[in-house]
Amino acid sequence: MMNDEIPNLTAFDGDSLNAAFVAVENKARVDATFISNEAGVEDFRLRWLGRKQGRLTEISARWLKAAPSEAKKGLGLRFNALKAVVEALLDQASGAGPSDAALAAEAIDITLPGTRRLTGAEHPITKTLNEITQVFAALGYSVGVGPEVETDFYNFESMNFPPGHPARDTQDTLVIANQERRTLRDRLLLRTHTSPVQMRTMESQPPPVRIIIPGKVHRNDAADATHSPIFHQVEGLCVDTNITFSDLKGTLDHAMKALFGSAVKTRFFPSFFPFTEPSADVQISCIFCGGKGCRKCKNSGWIELLGCGMVDPAVFAFAAEKQPAYDPKKISGFAFGMGVERIAMMKYGISEIGQFYAGDMRFLGQFV
Ligand SMILES: [Zn+2]
Repeated sequence: MMNDEIPNLTAFDGDSLNAAFVAVENKARVDATFISNEAGVEDFRLRWLGRKQGRLTEISARWLKAAPSEAKKGLGLRFNALKAVVEALLDQASGAGPSDAALAAEAIDITLPGTRRLTGAEHPITKTLNEITQVFAALGYSVGVGPEVETDFYNFESMNFPPGHPARDTQDTLVIANQERRTLRDRLLLRTHTSPVQMRTMESQPPPVRIIIPGKVHRNDAADATHSPIFHQVEGLCVDTNITFSDLKGTLDHAMKALFGSAVKTRFFPSFFPFTEPSADVQISCIFCGGKGCRKCKNSGWIELLGCGMVDPAVFAFAAEKQPAYDPKKISGFAFGMGVERIAMMKYGISEIGQFYAGDMRFLGQFV
């Protein structure tokens, strides 16, 4: 029986064969889209793959027989490819899914090791900085930030380092070039401490203030095992009515215990900072020997860790220029500052400050 849909082939060159087979394959694909139920699947099977009347049988009978012997091989290959497509369409329509062979070709070997990605982690400095910040956040302090390139006024003058004051020598820093035309207080420099943010915060809000100020600072210090020209500080400022030195002692004692363990003791020694009066250095009992005396604490049992003091009335006077509520007769406050590197070195037993900045993954990987 002749099948109307399969034309006779008259030319057997490659292009003609391709065109003929593509046309038949497209018909099969269109035909398969009309299958809607089981009966449709069987109709499709009979129409295309039926042994006696199927279109593939028809093609085999007419095209292959009519082909000259040199075209038979190419025609046979195309015929097998067409048959595979029709069978796949039938499988798909009957819900059988792709053949086992097709699945095997696409299979993924799940026993092969995957591509391992390195997990990111906080740098030990960032980690320590966040730990310190969290201790004070739990006491109700908010976080203050400010520019690293600061004016002479905010970095020095408003912190009670008057022009020419010898205390400026202890905080020598890099100054931006070509500023001769500016007045001294407007000249830009790299901040030597995060204290300028104290003044910026007081200027922008009336008391009470409780802020913690983490950040990067710069000093003209030669790099050695414990010094770096760039390092990190956390400063704190608390201003309110009736703030006393015992509030300062209680706050820092709590903070040191939170950071180094509840067995740590603190003691306060008189010191000098331009922006606090009175000022104190804070020592903690040696965390390595528990206060018995060891090489780390030079056998004293104590380690000096931070500076602090009651805010100098002269500092409040600068703040009062913009916020009159900072009247030193009505309010008081304390400030403190600590080096993040120094605390991180103690916590993790690191002896070279330069290791923090070298970018050596063998070193940094230990803190993940
Ligand atoms: Zn010790």
